[in-house]
Amino acid sequence: MPLFDLLGYAGPGLAAVLLAMAALNDNAENAAVSHAANGLPAITKAMDSTMMVLLRKSTQRTGSPDLLRACWTPEQLRGSASDKSIQKQAPDPSPPERITYRKQAILPEKLSGSIRYVKPRNSEKLVALTFDLCEQANERSGYDADLVNYLRDHKVKATFFAGGKWMRSHAEKTMQLMADPLFEIANHAWTHGNLRVLNGREMEEQITWTQAEYELLREKLLKSKCAAKLGDQAAVAIPPSLTEFRFPYGACNGQSLTAVNQMGLAAIQWNIVTGDPDRGQTAENIARTILNQVQPGSIVIAHANGRGWHTAEALPLVVSKLRTRGYRFVKISELLARGEVVATDSCYELKPGDNLRYDRQFGTGAK
Ligand SMILES: [Zn+2]
Repeated sequence: MPLFDLLGYAGPGLAAVLLAMAALNDNAENAAVSHAANGLPAITKAMDSTMMVLLRKSTQRTGSPDLLRACWTPEQLRGSASDKSIQKQAPDPSPPERITYRKQAILPEKLSGSIRYVKPRNSEKLVALTFDLCEQANERSGYDADLVNYLRDHKVKATFFAGGKWMRSHAEKTMQLMADPLFEIANHAWTHGNLRVLNGREMEEQITWTQAEYELLREKLLKSKCAAKLGDQAAVAIPPSLTEFRFPYGACNGQSLTAVNQMGLAAIQWNIVTGDPDRGQTAENIARTILNQVQPGSIVIAHANGRGWHTAEALPLVVSKLRTRGYRFVKISELLARGEVVATDSCYELKPGDNLRYDRQFGTGAK
C-alpha cells in the first residue's frame, strides 16, 4: 500500500511519519513563500507532480480523540439546544486579530475548477456529507448541537464549511470541530460574501481572513494547557491551514474561481442539494432527496448553522440506510484523494445559471 493511502488510517504509530511529512510540507510552503517575492515558484518546478500530491495528502490529518478528551468534558462537547439560535447583530467590520496566513502549495491541476463530485476508483461507495456554517455580517448564526452530536454518536465523518466570522464568534466550537478526528473544517468566506459580485481586495479578504482566523484558533488550541500535555501529537493531528473553499450562495465568476485556486484551495460545490434552509423542507424530504440521488462520490450540501431547520432529524433517516447499502462516509479531503474529480468552470446550484437570482437578492452579501 503506498504511504499516502496509509495516511487515511493514521494511528499513533504513524505519528512520527506524519510529523516528518508535516516538516517537509512546512519547508515546501516556506520555500514557496520565500520565492514568491521574486516571482519564481522554484519549489513547484523542482518537485515532480507525484511529490506535490504526496505533500498535499500529508494535510489529510485525522484529529485526535486524546486531544478531544483532554480539552473538553463530554458535557461541554454536547453543547445545548439553545446553541442553534440565530441573533441579529450590528455588523462588526473588524478583521481577525491577525490577518497573515500560511501560503498553500500549488493546487494540483486535477483539483482546479468548481468541484461537483468525485468518481471514486472502482466505484467505491463513498459519500461526503458537508455542512455549511454560514454567518452573515449582521448576525451571529447558530451551531446545531443535535446534528453534531448525532454525527459523533454514530461515527459519521463530515466536513464543515465555516465562515471566518462564524469561527471567531464560535471559537470554542470551532476548536472542538478541528480537534475531532471525524471532522474537517474548510473555508466558507469571512461574512458569506458573494464572490460573483465582490472583487479585488474585498473578495480576497473574504478568503484570506478566514484562513487567518482558522490558523489563529488552531494556535490558540495548541497553546492551551490541555493540548500542550499531548506534545507533538496535538500539532500533528490538526491541519495547519484550510485547503478547501466553498463559495457562499454557490456563486463564483472566472476571477474569483481563479483567485481561490491560485491560493491553493480546492473549490468544493456539491451534486445533492438538501434544500434545508427552506423552512418548509421536511426531514422526510431531505432524506428522500439524498437516498434517491446518491451515487458513489456524491457531495451533499446541508447546514449546521441553525438554518438547517430539519437536518438533524433527517440524519437518522439517512445514515443507517446508506450504510446498509454499503456506503461509507468520508471527509472531502479523503474523497478527493480516492478518485477522479468532476469539476466545471462555473458555479451553480444544480444547473448552470440557476443561482443568478442571489445576486439581485443579496448583492455583495457581505455587509
Ligand atoms: Zn453558506
